[in-house]
Amino acid sequence: MELDTISAISTPVGEGAIGIVRLSGKEALKITNQIFSGKDLTEVDSHTIHYGKIIDPDSHEMIEEVMVTVMRAPKTFTREDVVEINCHGGLASVNRLLELVLQFGARLAEPGEFTKRAFLNGRIDLSQAEAVMDLIRAKTDRAMDVAVKQLDGKLSKLIKELRQELIETVAHVEVNIDYPEYDDVEEMTKGVLLEKTTEVHHEIDRLLEMAKQGKILREGISTAIIGRPNVGKSSLLNALVQENKAIVTDIPGTTRDVIEEYVNIRGVPLRLIDTAGIRETDDLVEQLGVERSRKALKEADLVLLVLNNNEPLSDQDRQLLELVVDLELIILVNKTDLPTELDLSEVHQLINNHPIISTSLIEDKGIDDLEDEIARIFFDGQLEANDLSYISNVRHINLLQQAQRALVEAQDAIDADMPLDLVQIDVTRAWQILGEIIGDTAQDSLIDQLFSQFCLGK
Ligand code: GDP
Repeated sequence: MELDTISAISTPVGEGAIGIVRLSGKEALKITNQIFSGKDLTEVDSHTIHYGKIIDPDSHEMIEEVMVTVMRAPKTFTREDVVEINCHGGLASVNRLLELVLQFGARLAEPGEFTKRAFLNGRIDLSQAEAVMDLIRAKTDRAMDVAVKQLDGKLSKLIKELRQELIETVAHVEVNIDYPEYDDVEEMTKGVLLEKTTEVHHEIDRLLEMAKQGKILREGISTAIIGRPNVGKSSLLNALVQENKAIVTDIPGTTRDVIEEYVNIRGVPLRLIDTAGIRETDDLVEQLGVERSRKALKEADLVLLVLNNNEPLSDQDRQLLELVVDLELIILVNKTDLPTELDLSEVHQLINNHPIISTSLIEDKGIDDLEDEIARIFFDGQLEANDLSYISNVRHINLLQQAQRALVEAQDAIDADMPLDLVQIDVTRAWQILGEIIGDTAQDSLIDQLFSQFCLGK
């Protein structure tokens, strides 16, 4: 199928030193050449850049001074002819340029359509395409690292290896079905099946374990800071934010403007939940009621409960402790610069072995200890950024879990002495599901949906 020529603005909306309008498709060069004056772009070598002017052929008006990069198929991102027009970065000029290109025969690209073409034309597989998306959204250097590795095809390679194991196992079963007259072949085949499915099972387990870290890298550790009024919640927030450049994001589509701040702890983004709430009102429980607080807190990966060293434990403290005792919890005993009135042994009795950190936020003490503790809880002290097999994508995790279930069914069937061709069905299903991760067996609708999540122009 011949694909049409698409175009979009590839730089972020707004002011910038340069703006880029990108075209991909058979007509990319011809279209650009019609509005470009300087030289004949259809004659130039591939992977060269050319200075010239964009002239509106109808009005002969000079629109822009530009640099045009010409990249001919197949050595391009989309494997089609690609042209990138670099112009001055003002929004108006980039828009004008895009309009002209569309007027001369290009179609406005859908979000992610360039990357989709790269996939459709076989340059990258699905997991790599998703990595492009992760790259755009990566919030810390580490998260970026993971995306880059995935883009590199490391995940694909691993999945392919697992699929290979499974398909070889299936082949074994085929042999067995073809030569049923040898009794011992059946026993041997069962042995191989069990061994191989267990092996792949373990490997998927490992990937899923890594996925937990991957999710954290990508989405941040969602963290709730709670405590009764005046214990030092805002001070903690400020200390974290000050020490680690905060990224404030507005989350559209929520009923009220929930503000989330990210702080970077040892390369791991901590997503501080409802920081506006902390700053404006004091008490989560009072504000939301116990049930709702419980629910809100459940969604947190980590709870920081602040107590005041200078006051005895109050009923409200006890209530909060009870609320969070089963969650991932760190207790901060703040205001250690003031005389101790808090009975820590009572706190110990109320909680199961959760870490307790002493801080004096007013004196800037204890934040380092807190960060150490967070790193220890979530990454055993260090992040294995070098591991090649992080999986940070919900779709991938989901498919891995499905594959896992199919393998368990296969193993159960072997244990139950079911006929081998039934076992084979389960193993084949696991193989297919894994294929969906790299797009080997993915359906079109899924592919469309995936690519539509990209930014425009990617
Ligand atoms: P929040 O109501 O829990 O958010 O508490 P704030 O962070 O607003 O702090 C309440 C008061 O306690 C403020 O006056 C802070 O300056 C003070 N405070 C916070 N941390 C400390 C500390 O470590 N030592 C002392 N002495 N005062 C603190």
